[in-house]
Amino acid sequence: MNCRHCNASLRRGFLDLGFAPPSNSYVIREHLSDPEVCYPLRVQVCDHCWLVQTEDYTKETDLFTSDYAYFSSTSKSWLAHAAKYCDKVTRDLDLDEESFVVEVASNDGYLLKNFVMQRIPCLGVEPTDDTARAAELLGVPVVREFFGQAVAEKLSASHGKADLVIGNNVFAHVPDINDFARGLAVMLKPSGTITLEFPHLMQLIKLCQFDTIYHEHFSYLSLYTVGKIFNDAGLRIYDVEELTTHGGSLRVYGCHKDADIETTSFVSEVLSQEEKMGLRKPHTYESFQARADKIKDDLLMFLINCKKQGKSVAAYGAAAKGNPLLNYAGVKKDLLPLVCDAAASKQGKYLPGSHIPIFAPEVLKENAPDYVLVLPWNLLPEIREQLGYLTKHNTKFVIAVPELEIV
Ligand SMILES: [Zn+2]
Repeated sequence: MNCRHCNASLRRGFLDLGFAPPSNSYVIREHLSDPEVCYPLRVQVCDHCWLVQTEDYTKETDLFTSDYAYFSSTSKSWLAHAAKYCDKVTRDLDLDEESFVVEVASNDGYLLKNFVMQRIPCLGVEPTDDTARAAELLGVPVVREFFGQAVAEKLSASHGKADLVIGNNVFAHVPDINDFARGLAVMLKPSGTITLEFPHLMQLIKLCQFDTIYHEHFSYLSLYTVGKIFNDAGLRIYDVEELTTHGGSLRVYGCHKDADIETTSFVSEVLSQEEKMGLRKPHTYESFQARADKIKDDLLMFLINCKKQGKSVAAYGAAAKGNPLLNYAGVKKDLLPLVCDAAASKQGKYLPGSHIPIFAPEVLKENAPDYVLVLPWNLLPEIREQLGYLTKHNTKFVIAVPELEIV
């Protein structure tokens, strides 16, 4: 296989998690006895541009089906994050009723609704029908498409070019990252700004967040590599912020290469942090598998010990994130009988691979377990607060990443 960005041949492995079903393909009861399609979950790194990427194996449309269950609005902290961003960017870029904002992968409208409220014209681009419909109910106009250069050409002809193009947690999800970047350039006014948020590869490596590695994430991105991808698409990164979302993300600000916008010193600061962390050195990538294996072994040992001692464990958060870990560890219902999630769209279904049933959080009220394993560790403070009533039953919270910890 060749690198999805620079086409160099890929020779260096980063992580091999065996075979797994797509992390978002929750199973309904009627299909529990059907065979489940599993794909190899292997990640490589390019020695030339350092893009960390999953192996090719399937088309994106196989993964993002119309019953895709993730609705951004179910996370309160994510909603607050979006509202804060909209306030800031509206001020910084002087957006008003004359401006035009486009969000790629607009999901259920959790972000664009903030612009609708301020009467700033906007458009969402979203391929999954359920979430697009939810956005439309909030007054957010949506076109149902996978974004790329061809779609950007069509949309910029029909709607005009944008002052602001937003892509939150989508850049790492697209198989053809070069085509996506060219689409951003096509969609953008000469003086416009692009903002992209994506989990930072540096944090993934530092905190061994291997449970964020799944098929739907084609790329794992550093500022260095995104800079290269932007450059080839005629774009330039002019600013960057470090965010705490998703275990440590970057928000990059991009513009056309020749735009009259100065590049801030934060860009070179983050680039030099990455250099110091060894993001352009092979040994950084070669040691990752052993660290991931330790996390897997520790979780398995914890669950087996709980079972031996007669302690009950329930998981919380049926996020895509938990599935690579559970499936790599081979955890099934005997070790982890249930998972709770606040999203009604997931309740009554089963986790892909492990087939652990998903319940509403209320079941914990009826039957407080000894331990709650929080799978989306990035939402731990929010989840602990929601489940605060469990402390009177002496329930303890557990996270597995970056290391097994009872908190
Ligand atoms: Zn490459």
